[in-house]
Amino acid sequence: MSSISVPLLKHHDTQETFTRTTNGARATLPVPNSTRSFWLYGTPDANPLAREGSTGDLPSDVDICIIGSGITGVSAAYHLAKLFDGHKDIDKPLKAVILEARDFCSGATGRNGGHLSPTRFLDFARLEATYGTDEAKRQHALEKHTAQSLIDIIKNGGLENTVDYVPVDHVAIFLAEQEIEEARADYSTAEAADLDLSGIEWLNKDAMQAEYGTSFAGLRYGGANLWPLKLVSELYKLASTQNPSKFELALHTNTPVTAVGPGSSPERRWKVSTPRGNISCSYVLHATNAYASYLLPHMHGPDGIVPARGQVVALRANATPTKTSWWGNQGFEYWFPRPVEDTEKYPLVILGGGREVAGQNFGYYTTDDSVINPEVGKALRNFLPGIIPGKYEKGREPEMEWAGIMGFTKLGDPFVGPVIDKSRPEELQGQYISAGYSGIGMTRAYACAEVIAGMVFADITKTSWTKPDWLPRHYLTAER
Ligand SMILES: Cc1cc2nc3c(=O)[nH]c(=O)nc-3n(C[C@H](O)[C@H](O)[C@H](O)COP(=O)(O)OP(=O)(O)OC[C@H]3O[C@@H](n4cnc5c(N)ncnc54)[C@H](O)[C@@H]3O)c2cc1C
Repeated sequence: MSSISVPLLKHHDTQETFTRTTNGARATLPVPNSTRSFWLYGTPDANPLAREGSTGDLPSDVDICIIGSGITGVSAAYHLAKLFDGHKDIDKPLKAVILEARDFCSGATGRNGGHLSPTRFLDFARLEATYGTDEAKRQHALEKHTAQSLIDIIKNGGLENTVDYVPVDHVAIFLAEQEIEEARADYSTAEAADLDLSGIEWLNKDAMQAEYGTSFAGLRYGGANLWPLKLVSELYKLASTQNPSKFELALHTNTPVTAVGPGSSPERRWKVSTPRGNISCSYVLHATNAYASYLLPHMHGPDGIVPARGQVVALRANATPTKTSWWGNQGFEYWFPRPVEDTEKYPLVILGGGREVAGQNFGYYTTDDSVINPEVGKALRNFLPGIIPGKYEKGREPEMEWAGIMGFTKLGDPFVGPVIDKSRPEELQGQYISAGYSGIGMTRAYACAEVIAGMVFADITKTSWTKPDWLPRHYLTAER
C-alpha cells in the first residue's frame, strides 16, 4: 500500500512565493561549517583538491579571475584553456585564477543529486508558450549539448570509473494524475514542434508495478549518474594541464572574494579583494550561483538570483533496486542508487527534495547549508518506503544527510553573459556571469560556462563571438 510523505503539485505555489517575496536580502558569503555531503566526505580521498592553494602568497596580478570552483567556474576555465591552446597569436600565457571561498567544489556542485539526465521534453509546453518554439527547442538542445559534451570528455579520457559514470534509465514517476496530463501536453507540443523524442517510453501502473514495484505510472528515457565533485576535479586537471604556455591556471581555495572594485589601470580594470590580499585583473567571471548577489547586490531579490536550501540524504536500500535514476513530484524529489561496492549488500541511495515541507517560503532566501531542516528530513526518510514499498525499510536512518544552496531565478533559467546593472550601464565592462540554474545545473552549467568563456576569448583576441545554435537567447543577460 502506497503512502506519500510530501504534499503534491506545489510547483505553482513555489513560483508564487518566489515572486511575492520582494524584500529578500542579498546573499551572504558561503557559511563555514557546512554540513558534510556524501560527495565531499563519503570516502576519505574524495576531494584531493579540497584545500589547494589555500596557503602562501596570492598572485597580485592576473588576466582573469574566476570566482567559484563549482561546475560553472571550472568549466569556464576548461573552455578558456581549450580556446587559448588553439590560438596561435598568444606569445605569453594568459594567467587565470579560480578563487573559492571554502574547500574546492563545496557549493551546490558538491552537494547535489548527482544526476546528468536532460529533461528531454518536460516543460516544453510552457517554454513554447512563453518564448516561442525555437527557444523551447534550444533549451532542450543546450541540455543535450551539455550532457553529450561531458560524456564525451569522460569516455575520451577513460574516466568512467574515476567519476562513477553510470548510464541509466531515467524514470519520471507521476504521483498525481495532473502530472500525467501535463507531461502528455508537453509531449504532444514537443512532437508538433518536431523535437527529437526518440527513446521515450510511457509506462502504465501495471508496467511500473512489474518493473519497479511501485503503483504509480511513469515515463522512461536514457540518462546518467555520476559523482559531480570527481567530474569537476577531472575538468580542473584538464584545464590546468591543457597548455600552460598559453593558459596558466591556478586554484586558491579558502579564499573568499569580499569585493570587486575598480582597478588601477585601464587594462587592469578590476581589483578583486580577499582576506589574503588583492588581485588586479582585466576580467572577472562570477561563477558564484546562489551567492551571486553578495558581490553583485543589484542581482538580489526575485528579479535576480535567490538562494534556496535543498536537502539530501544517503539512505541504504533494503533490496537491490534497478539501475535507474528517478525524478518525481514535478521534480521536487530525485534519487538514484549508487553503484554497489564489494563490501555492500544493498546500495546507498542518494535522495534529495522535501522543499515543499521546508516552511512557508520553500527554503528561499537562506545561504546557510550548515543546518538541516528536521521536517524535510522526516519527509525524505518516509518518501521511498511510502512509494516503493518493500525496497526501503520504514524508519531507517540515513547514513549521511546534508544541505546545499541552489540559485533560483524568476524564469527558472540562468543569467549568462556580461554583468549588466541597468542603473550603471557602462561601468561593469569585463565582468561576466553564468548563474541561477534554478535546481537544474548539471545539464546546463557546462554549456553556459562555454558561452561566457567564448565571450571573454573573443574580447581578448578581438574576434567576434557567435551565438551557438543550442543557446536559448533568453538566457543572455543582454536579452533579459
Ligand atoms: C541539494 C541540491 C540538489 C541538486 N540536484 C541537482 C540534480 O540532481 N541535477 C541537476 O542538474 N542539478 C542539481 N542541483 C543544482 C546544481 O547542483 C547547480 O545548479 C550547479 O551545481 C551550480 O553550479 P555552480 O558552479 O554554478 O555553483 P556552485 O557549485 O554552488 O559553485 C559556486 C561556488 O562559488 C563559491 N563562492 C560563492 N561566493 C564566493 C565568493 N564571494 N568568493 C569565493 N567563492 C565564492 C561557493 O563556495 C561555491 O563553491 C542541485 C543543487 C542542490 C543544492
